[in-house]
Amino acid sequence: MPHIAQLSPHVADLIAAGEVVERPASVVKELTENAVDAGAHVVTVEIQNGGMTLVRVTDDGCGIAPGELQTAFLRHATSKIRSEYDLEAIGTLGFRGEALAAIASVSRLEVLSRRPEDGLGASLTLEGGVVTGQEEAGCPVGTTMLVRDLFYNTPARLKFMKKDAAEGAACLAAVQRQALAHPEVSFKFLRDGRQELLTPGDGKLRSALYAVLGRDLALGFTAVEGSGEGVKVSGFTSLPTCCRGTRGYQFFFVNGRYIKSKTLTAAVEQAYANQRMVGKFPGCVLHLEVKLNAVDVNVHPTKQEVKFGSERQVFSAVYYAVLSALGADKSRPAAAVGGAVKPQAEDFHQTSLPLHDFTSKGTGGMGHPAPLGQKDRLSAPPTPPSAPAGGEKNRSPVFRPPVLSASPQGTLISQPAADSFPLKGGSLKADGSAEEPAKGSEGAGLKAAVGAAAEEAPEPAVISAEEQEVPWRIVGELFHTYIIVEQGEKALLIDKHAAHERMNFDRMRAVDYVPMSQVLLSPVVFTPAPEEKAVLLENLAELDRVGFEVEDFGGGSLVVRSIPDYLDAAGVDAALTEIAGKLSLTGSTGERERRDEILHTMACKAAIKGGWKNAPEELERVAKAVMAGEVKYCPHGRPVAIELTQTELEKQFKRRS
Ligand code: ADP
Ligand code: MG
Repeated sequence: MPHIAQLSPHVADLIAAGEVVERPASVVKELTENAVDAGAHVVTVEIQNGGMTLVRVTDDGCGIAPGELQTAFLRHATSKIRSEYDLEAIGTLGFRGEALAAIASVSRLEVLSRRPEDGLGASLTLEGGVVTGQEEAGCPVGTTMLVRDLFYNTPARLKFMKKDAAEGAACLAAVQRQALAHPEVSFKFLRDGRQELLTPGDGKLRSALYAVLGRDLALGFTAVEGSGEGVKVSGFTSLPTCCRGTRGYQFFFVNGRYIKSKTLTAAVEQAYANQRMVGKFPGCVLHLEVKLNAVDVNVHPTKQEVKFGSERQVFSAVYYAVLSALGADKSRPAAAVGGAVKPQAEDFHQTSLPLHDFTSKGTGGMGHPAPLGQKDRLSAPPTPPSAPAGGEKNRSPVFRPPVLSASPQGTLISQPAADSFPLKGGSLKADGSAEEPAKGSEGAGLKAAVGAAAEEAPEPAVISAEEQEVPWRIVGELFHTYIIVEQGEKALLIDKHAAHERMNFDRMRAVDYVPMSQVLLSPVVFTPAPEEKAVLLENLAELDRVGFEVEDFGGGSLVVRSIPDYLDAAGVDAALTEIAGKLSLTGSTGERERRDEILHTMACKAAIKGGWKNAPEELERVAKAVMAGEVKYCPHGRPVAIELTQTELEKQFKRRS
């Protein structure tokens, strides 16, 4: 073994730089964070060749004193914290004093800065972290950082860079996050001279959202507002019909800092359980405010992962805030007149979700996880994913619903044109699912993608509470599948199977649900595959809950003695095999998730089907539930009703323009 020696500061810098500066987007992230910390109102980011040859960040912040310019580039030099005690409550984005040193050590850097109180500013140049010159300079108030030839002195890193387009997209994504984190700051992003983003900086998250996602996509989002124990949650979340094939549109911010968190992702996604399509993910822009000492941001060099004092509290706060927002949303997809959209059914896959459900009753959901006393009751809130390392591993998984205050804002009608929306300029895969955007281009190219589809979408309308009261009547039924309802100046088409399936699902999930079971005169014995048998035997109690009495018959067989009354004895093994398949496919572990799996199947089996002839009373019952806003999405996330306005029809018949 060679002898031990301390590394030179230069090598140490390069090692440290590797952690902070992974790619051009890291430079963009660190420099824009510094600009925000400096109190800037306007931040301009320019890149060339994906940021590899140039990243320039200009701000109108507080500037740096000429005498401190060089200090700023020393390792562990910061103006943001002073002592170990400050680490307990970090209120700035930066605090490690590493970024400038790290960036400078792997680039050719030039900085220009002036404070408002100084007549003259200063410029400083560094090469590979070594100062090559400083002089006085006339410049506007604020700071401009020019980072050239990133990784010119670390060829190993240079090798790993992707194409300029991908690195550039990652830079844009970094600015987008910063813009969504700080709506009070106006961000501009230019790639090779072309402006790709401009946020107004008016302090409104909705404005930033519009600028980042584009108007049409932003319209698919509804406001979220809520608070739990020590956590305030606000922002926007996508309507269930506007979920997409990637998690790239989930943005979480804690005290103005963009973070990644499995806990928060799970909290949001569980709020969509049973009304989200398989393979589709909700988008969200959620801001969490917690006490500075309730979150540790010093757990990762890039500060994108944080540790919450209580994962449970933030999980609950986010889960219930999103749940309330979705419950409060009264919109229905509009029918596409004139063939503007693709047939929606292609976009949906009939598979169930292993997640927790919530009621879809539109009460606004204040103060309670669900409108108790209604048919569907939430027996207990769901559980967050397993606590992160060092988290609350040993805590009991018991949840108390936090006291919530929520005030959902006006809601918008979502347009199916945007909801089935094809990413990447409308390319849909053969199976009807949207293609994932290229890796690293999250959010980029998004506007272009929806542009075409959305052009044809009519103006959104706000549905008021009174509108729900307008009398309605059933006009008839189409194709034995869709109930036609007239209400005021609107016509609704209700998918009777989807709606009834949802009604069944909610009914079966109620804590006081008692299944109607029929005892089979001659019990059914069947032999499933060994794994299917095992999974069914593990879930006997859950099966019993929906009306199956199943026992091990020995020799690889099962005997079924009772079945739910709506099931035909001939369909028993098919139903149980389907349930077994779903249970083993999802690997659902929680009791509630397993129950939902079973209920998905049973709700579908118990539902009236498209093509069936139904008695008028049956149709009336389904229509009633839909018109009362009790059911909005089937358990697979398909809408149960679409609407068509008189105006739309009149336009089609050219009665008006
Ligand atoms: P940190 O942000 O963790 O403090 P940095 O290396 O990013 O560390 O920056 C070092 C210091 O340089 C900051 O603490 C701040 O005082 C100063 N600084 C960096 N960028 C700017 C800027 N754009 N405007 C004003 N001051 C800045
Ligand atoms: Mg910094």
